[in-house]
Amino acid sequence: MIKTKNLHKSFGELEVLKGIDLDINPGQVVVLVGVSGSGKSTLLRCLNFLEKAEEGTISIDGRTVDRKKDDLSQVRAEVGMVFQHFNLFPHKTVLENIMEAPLIVKKADRGKAKQLAHSLLEKVGLSDKADVYPNKLSGGQKQRVAIARALAMEPKALLFDEPTSALDPELVGEVLQVMQDLANEGMTMVAVTHEMKFAKEVADRIIMLDEGVIIEDADPETFFNHSTNERTRQFLEMVN
Ligand code: ADP
Ligand code: MG
Repeated sequence: MIKTKNLHKSFGELEVLKGIDLDINPGQVVVLVGVSGSGKSTLLRCLNFLEKAEEGTISIDGRTVDRKKDDLSQVRAEVGMVFQHFNLFPHKTVLENIMEAPLIVKKADRGKAKQLAHSLLEKVGLSDKADVYPNKLSGGQKQRVAIARALAMEPKALLFDEPTSALDPELVGEVLQVMQDLANEGMTMVAVTHEMKFAKEVADRIIMLDEGVIIEDADPETFFNHSTNERTRQFLEMVN
């Protein structure tokens, strides 16, 4: 579903991604880990074409994206992204937030967009919040709206960049639950998260980035219990 070959990304002198090869199958849940500054966000942003990789290719669902010829907003419709800070439109209601992209990017029919938005709100457990403004929501509720908003584009895959890191601890679970539901439904997902319990229980694969290089790509059991990689073990000691 998502494939990269030899992806390189630098900011000035700083080389942040040093040749990333990824191959994520449909329905796979990948948790991306690594210390701060290892390049996790940059990798997700490259996969969503918010950053431009200088070298290498990215294919989505078997098609290599051509930055010059392809409409990147269409590509972004195929691979949605959920951020640490929810970035909801403050002057739009919850329902309008979810309807916005289908109406603007997909030129969707208003009635259909509304119907879809309502069904997505139900999916994330917020049916009663359709007409409220984001400032009336808790952080966990905001993030669930942000997930519904990403789903409104009917993406083939979803990227999550620390979706629970800005939340009070008691609100983390409700967001992880929505992510787990999506995983169970077969959504292809790449999530950067420090929630190791989620990683153990939900991920098919854990990928560890270290200074812009993938140093480990393993199933959770192997990653957490049998890694022989020194950097991985240091990382696990730090997060546990
Ligand atoms: P992570 O998400 O793993 O913490 P990032 O991908 O955010 O890491 O950052 C990797 C490195 O790239 C860091 O050293 C960071 O300072 C640098 N970096 C990220 N974005 C930019 C940017 N827009 N301009 C310059 N440097 C950046
Ligand atoms: Mg980051």
